[in-house]
Amino acid sequence: MAKTHQEHPETLAIREQAPHSAEREHSVPIFMTSSFVFESAEQARAMFADEVHGNIYTRFSNPNNDEFSRKMAALENLPEGFACASGMSAIFTSMAALLKSGDHVLCARSVFGSTHQILTQIFPRWGIEFSYVDIADQLHWEKSFKPNTKMFFLETPSNPALDIIDLAAIGKICKSKGVLLNVDNCFCTPALQKPADFGADIVVHSATKYIDGQGRALGGVILAQSDIMKEIRFFARHTGPALSPFNAWLFSKSLETLDLRMERHSENALKLATALQNHADIERVIYPFLPDHPGYVLAKKQMKSGGGIVSLIVKGGVDRGRKFLDSLTMLSHTANLGDTRTIATHPASTTHSKLSDAERAAVGILPGMVRISVGLENADDILYHIGAALEKSR
Ligand SMILES: *Cc1c(COP(=O)(O)O)cnc(C)c1O
Repeated sequence: MAKTHQEHPETLAIREQAPHSAEREHSVPIFMTSSFVFESAEQARAMFADEVHGNIYTRFSNPNNDEFSRKMAALENLPEGFACASGMSAIFTSMAALLKSGDHVLCARSVFGSTHQILTQIFPRWGIEFSYVDIADQLHWEKSFKPNTKMFFLETPSNPALDIIDLAAIGKICKSKGVLLNVDNCFCTPALQKPADFGADIVVHSATKYIDGQGRALGGVILAQSDIMKEIRFFARHTGPALSPFNAWLFSKSLETLDLRMERHSENALKLATALQNHADIERVIYPFLPDHPGYVLAKKQMKSGGGIVSLIVKGGVDRGRKFLDSLTMLSHTANLGDTRTIATHPASTTHSKLSDAERAAVGILPGMVRISVGLENADDILYHIGAALEKSR
């Protein structure tokens, strides 16, 4: 019978499973094995020759890693994926596998710190050049393409300023110029934003954040069109960024609740952002789904909801920002995001402290900015604790 129904991605995130073993388990077990046995010399030969698909060695593939990357590919509307040991190994692999000496990368100015280090410190040693583009200024980025531009890399919303980049506009121009669009979709996850629907050829993630969602394990994943994935797979197989099957197992279980969790993260974040807008100790609340956000219309177009990150500009600059963190009781002060627990950080004195004031200003990081990764606790409790810390830090 012809197949008349295609399951939705949220269903596949639950139902896509590695085939069960002879034990007939309902929940997929962890395949903690570094290699897989061959049934015959002929099977081994055929598998190594790529004539037959099958697991050989966990650096190449493993049932848990494949299940996790298949689910992620279904969610991101891309055909294939490869699971990596961290978000950075996914980002690095997605670039290094596809770029060569003499190539040029265009990059949105505000990207994760280690991505910035790869572009500014590591790739120049290998003859790969880059330029940053100020995304808000369309004339600027349209003129920034060079004949040797091979890839455009961006994050939206940006961290921690939460600028929104027009994925459809960039997707269109990249397509017309034959430039690969590579999007770090860590802040949204595919539950809120699917960059491939706007023209991205590659989507990368730090699974450490919302995909795990509980602050337990490091990991990442690359999703891409099949021809691109072929090159990435070759590079990964021989350079070894593979994820541990244990972590893949954790992430795959977490994906079963991703849609629900992201809905609640966003709901709590919007409540918090709205409630703090008129607070006497706060200069400005930055949240993409607040109507006063400059990217509001765009955010509504390309994101299902506003996500779990809210940035607050606390009155009183660096000192007040730090004092606020020291006044928190329930919230966690830790260098992570996308957890069930609400987390606060002060970018100017921590993650972005190595930048000059001018460099921080260029990426929208003000001295009193506090980034809140809104968790899944009751929104009233989160709000109460933030209010109490604001009062105590006066
Ligand atoms: C955390 C993060 C990364 C790096 O991921 P790791 O898993 O820590 O290697 C990359 N991009 C963004 C946007 C992140 O938040």
